[in-house]
Amino acid sequence: LPTARLESPQAGDVDVSLPRPGPESTKYRRGVLGMAVGSDRYRGAAVLAAGGALRGGVGMLRYAGHDAVATEVLRHWPEVVVSVLDPEDPLAGLPERVDAWVVGPGRGVDGDAETELEAILGSPLPVLLDADAVTLLGTRPRLVRDREAPTLLTPHAAEMARLLPDTSPREIEARRLEYATRTAEEYGCVVLLKGSTTVIAEPGRPALADPNGTSLLATAGTGDVLSGLVGSLLSGGLAPREAAMCGAYLHGLAARLAHDGGPISASDLIGALPSAIRALR
Ligand code: AMP
Ligand code: MG
Repeated sequence: LPTARLESPQAGDVDVSLPRPGPESTKYRRGVLGMAVGSDRYRGAAVLAAGGALRGGVGMLRYAGHDAVATEVLRHWPEVVVSVLDPEDPLAGLPERVDAWVVGPGRGVDGDAETELEAILGSPLPVLLDADAVTLLGTRPRLVRDREAPTLLTPHAAEMARLLPDTSPREIEARRLEYATRTAEEYGCVVLLKGSTTVIAEPGRPALADPNGTSLLATAGTGDVLSGLVGSLLSGGLAPREAAMCGAYLHGLAARLAHDGGPISASDLIGALPSAIRALR
């Protein structure tokens, strides 16, 4: 395993990197994010990821999905621009004018999901892959390595183990920094490894350990919120390492602020994101 240097970002680093709207902002300049997440079976993942992006400051969110899940997203977030995909020809309905993509949470791992993932990886845009998209990627680093645009992988330990042929979630948990660094080097991209301490690795740069994580986050759906939040920052033009750093930091801070440190749900986390952004200054 590679050895790695480690840095810990502070509120000031996040504050400096975080894009904020100004007089010259438009919804397009703030960033248009495409989302291929959730499914008719897992509608909540889409609602949560959408919330993370919207409260993270995205200019416009374009959601692509089948009828039932797309309707559910709109019911929660009427500001989302929805593309309802035709099950007979789902690729034809994917939105074109976006600045970055988030793919994977709750999307499923069937043939259609795989075709969709490969189509999106074929685009010249930054792409965040989480959950089912990490599983579908499997041990195929070339799909990521050969891209011109940046890719960001956000696995937890069990998902990371699917990217590496000869390891286990337990081994990854025991050496998180080393495995995040190895995955980043093998896939030639930025990797955010989720868990007790979130580690962000990029080839040739010191890794980042998020100082703000909290076990309040250990509840279903918080990872979906993170994917939308980091995706919004990617679409706003941040490099993947900075988007991951800011997203992880704000995610942990929002968890601490929601209910003043009492138990929270992933929906509460979305509600606390604006306070977290405000608290940076
Ligand atoms: P997921 O695994 O996709 O559901 O995402 C869970 C989120 O909660 C990630 O942001 C993890 O980093 C975070 N998380 C899970 N368990 C812990 C923990 N014990 N301490 C801190 N953060 C955690
Ligand atoms: Mg997850």
